[in-house]
Amino acid sequence: MAKEQLIEKLAELAVKVGANVQQDQIVVVNSSTETKELARKITLKAYEAGAKKVMVNWTDDYVSRYGLDHMSTDTLSTVPQWQIDKYQELVDEGACVISITSPIPGLNKGVDPKKMQTSSIARSKALSFVQDHMMSNRTQWSIVAAPNAVWAKRVFPDLEEDEAVEALWDAILQASRVTEDNDPIQEWKEHNDRLLAHNKILNDYQFDTLHFENNLGTDITIKLVENHVWAGGGETSTKGVWFNPNIPTEENFTMPHKTGVNGKVVATKPLNYQGTLIEDFWLEFKDGQVVDYDAKKEKDALKNLLEYDEGSSYLGEIALISYDSPISNSNILFFNTLFDENASCHMALGRAYPMNIEGGTDAKLEDLKEKGYNFSMAHSDFMFGSKDLQITGTTKGGKKVTIFKDGDFVI
Ligand code: ZN
Ligand code: ZN
Repeated sequence: MAKEQLIEKLAELAVKVGANVQQDQIVVVNSSTETKELARKITLKAYEAGAKKVMVNWTDDYVSRYGLDHMSTDTLSTVPQWQIDKYQELVDEGACVISITSPIPGLNKGVDPKKMQTSSIARSKALSFVQDHMMSNRTQWSIVAAPNAVWAKRVFPDLEEDEAVEALWDAILQASRVTEDNDPIQEWKEHNDRLLAHNKILNDYQFDTLHFENNLGTDITIKLVENHVWAGGGETSTKGVWFNPNIPTEENFTMPHKTGVNGKVVATKPLNYQGTLIEDFWLEFKDGQVVDYDAKKEKDALKNLLEYDEGSSYLGEIALISYDSPISNSNILFFNTLFDENASCHMALGRAYPMNIEGGTDAKLEDLKEKGYNFSMAHSDFMFGSKDLQITGTTKGGKKVTIFKDGDFVI
């Protein structure tokens, strides 16, 4: 099958399973000029699925970079009223959103970080109602990926540019469960069923603690917050429409108790922190906080992350992913969270997700904190899953249950 047909399958997956576009719904597609092929196919598939109107928000990362260099922080921080009005209308119309991610590694190197941060905070404040709309699932939204040449060369440095792009397409399609001979829509239904079944089993147990152990030296106990919620896979919008925020996704994740983490965890993949690759590292926790750590490469970057703010040396997420899964089996480091965090069991240093505690999305920050929620401006996932990882849950009644044996789910 030609690559073009496979990309068409991915477009259809984004429309039908990702955003699950409804009859007469407006669809917003966020795409850079690097990914126009996929954007066009998504547009066509969305119309075929009954979309009333498809609007593509084109951006060009190089144009944006020139803007960062030449505009003042003030100009960069200003969102014109017509743009706010445009988004307000789309929110009012109940538009769904499909975003194509295709990062260009290193493109913003050399830009004044303060300028970038100040203007990005100002812009997201002005448009926070759009973010709220999506993050509270008041409409369907989904993220898929497509390659660009720079990213492809970063992932496959030994290949010629054209070959690298082809190879990254193959890897993205494979990870997204799109293959020559499958029906990705059916495959995702089965995949979602498995993820939701694991959520249900884990939610029913309401484990007090999880213990992780392997031969690399990981030996750590994580207490979970009371009334924690395991999430992962598809979600339902407040209007009752099923959708999949991330393509791909492999994780079941929940909220650790901020002060309930004790022991040592050894990372099994590098951590990409603000473009720096921290390698071969371990962390030791006491009462939730990292009290000791080391890294063979870029220990300073790890130090920066841990000292970023008060919450960045505590955990905000624990996610379970079977060792035997498409991204893990590919053994490719994508330098992109959408893929890399779905390759292996991971934890995140920094901010927790309110959705991982019952009633959390409507709760006040202070109330969440009282229950063990960790707040931080950082959220950095790092991978620690391995072929021999064992996970044992202990219920509040003291009953022990094996969750992972030899790297994979056994419940
Ligand atoms: Zn995660
Ligand atoms: Zn995460």
